[in-house]
Amino acid sequence: MSRHALVTGAGSGIGEAISRQLHAEGYRITLVGRRHEPLAALSASLGENSHAVTGDVTDRVGIASAFGAAKENFGDVEILVNSAGMAPTAPFHRLDFTDWQRTMDVNVNGVFHCMQIALDAMLRASWGRVINIASVASLQGFPYVSGYCASKHAVLGLTRAVALEVATQGVTVNAICPGYVDTGIVRTAIANIVSKTGRTEEDAMQHFTESNPQGRLIEASEVASAVSWLCSDGAASVTGQAVAIDGGGTA
Ligand code: NAP
Repeated sequence: MSRHALVTGAGSGIGEAISRQLHAEGYRITLVGRRHEPLAALSASLGENSHAVTGDVTDRVGIASAFGAAKENFGDVEILVNSAGMAPTAPFHRLDFTDWQRTMDVNVNGVFHCMQIALDAMLRASWGRVINIASVASLQGFPYVSGYCASKHAVLGLTRAVALEVATQGVTVNAICPGYVDTGIVRTAIANIVSKTGRTEEDAMQHFTESNPQGRLIEASEVASAVSWLCSDGAASVTGQAVAIDGGGTA
């Protein structure tokens, strides 16, 4: 039987692209997010072997019950992809503490909860894949996203430490570190720059493309390809890594 992958943040952007790719490759997919509508629409378009389950990764009890529903449907989760995330922007001295806490809660504590819940079954089965969608902000600093950078650095640290803990037990744990990807987060940021600064859309877009030596936004499907490779048996010795998908921006 095909393996069971659970993807958080599956209703949009990178999580949706990953879910589509893994499903197309024959995996059984549990789609997790807070809003039911986008998950149900994606599941309807994927058809058989996909299952939408609502859950908030910051709520330990709620997300544990989402894993329970996933297990009832497709058995234990064998592949966990943590893509749920948020990215508030503000100069550090104006960064609201509530926004800081919320960012840590979703981007770090959410990954903590999902990894801890999923690992039990993976260790019992002596096989598992954990893939955390981190960011180039796990590898270097960026202005005006200090909370996001701190959270994504934490995700990479967690990834590396747990990878070493489970290295002999058939489970790999990796982080994927994309540069700017063409998703709603970036499109909203471009619209905000245009409305707040009066800059043209082309000008605002340049802000996001210039950090990529290839001079473009990355496609969500490119991130999905890397996830697919990390799930494969051929990637069994790749663990504790930060796989940058950034057109060479961190080279
Ligand atoms: P997105 O389209 O906004 O996707 C984020 C998803 O996370 C949404 O579907 C959202 O659905 C879900 N989510 C948010 N909070 C959640 C919570 N508490 N519990 C469960 N689900 C939650 O953004 P994206 O661009 O695909 O980003 C996905 C991941 O890639 C994030 O971790 C982001 O940091 C990372 N990343 C993005 C970029 C980029 O340029 N786009 C670059 C590097 C890294 P609901 O609102 O329905 O819950």
